[in-house]
Amino acid sequence: MLDWVLDLLFPPQCPACGRYTERRDTWCDSCFAGLVKPHRLPLDAEMYSLFDGGVWALGVYEAGLRDMLRQLKYDGKKGLLPGLHRYMAAGLRQLPLAAGNGRQEGLRCNKSRADGDVSRENVLAVPVPLHPDRLKERGFNQSELLFREPLAALDIPLQGALVRCRATTPQFGLTAAERRGNLQGAFALAEEATAAGDALNGKKVILVDDIMTTGATLQECALVLKEAGAASLMGIVAASGRK
Ligand SMILES: [Zn+2]
Repeated sequence: MLDWVLDLLFPPQCPACGRYTERRDTWCDSCFAGLVKPHRLPLDAEMYSLFDGGVWALGVYEAGLRDMLRQLKYDGKKGLLPGLHRYMAAGLRQLPLAAGNGRQEGLRCNKSRADGDVSRENVLAVPVPLHPDRLKERGFNQSELLFREPLAALDIPLQGALVRCRATTPQFGLTAAERRGNLQGAFALAEEATAAGDALNGKKVILVDDIMTTGATLQECALVLKEAGAASLMGIVAASGRK
């Protein structure tokens, strides 16, 4: 259907407050302003020791944002991506991703003493992988879809350096200890990253995922990345239920 016909019949509405908006599948300006809330998530000692750059959520997993993330993931509604990318980009811009961002913590690219160069060369983003069966069934990795474009705009490449080598039962309804056990050994370095040998060596790695619940998934991935030589780790999720 032609867009203008569609707009006439079903005027675009803000998914959070229902107000009519100019663009489809994105929030009105006032909802958008309240949605972008980058915050550092509280971590236990083990997670803290792995993620020296912290784990950040770009917003809170509730209301309209939760609906859009779910529709992207489970219904494959890629038409939601422009709106979600606008949200992601606004949140990422506020994080300490590189030197000169004015914050003390995070993945700062240290000034090299040799040439005084400050760059993002050493920064690499890695998405939490899906099991190949799940990827085949869904057709995409939602974390990759959410993060690739907004990170590219910041000159940060996204590389599928991890694979999920074991199918796991859904984490829902498991205790924290069960979640850990369920995920142990579920992730490994992807073949390309292994073949390249030092692909992650000395890199400042940003592990990205759509949401974080207990952090068990991020933790297992972090162990593999550290093992592969990542010098520094930061986690970023599109949203988290934790405020
Ligand atoms: Zn609204």
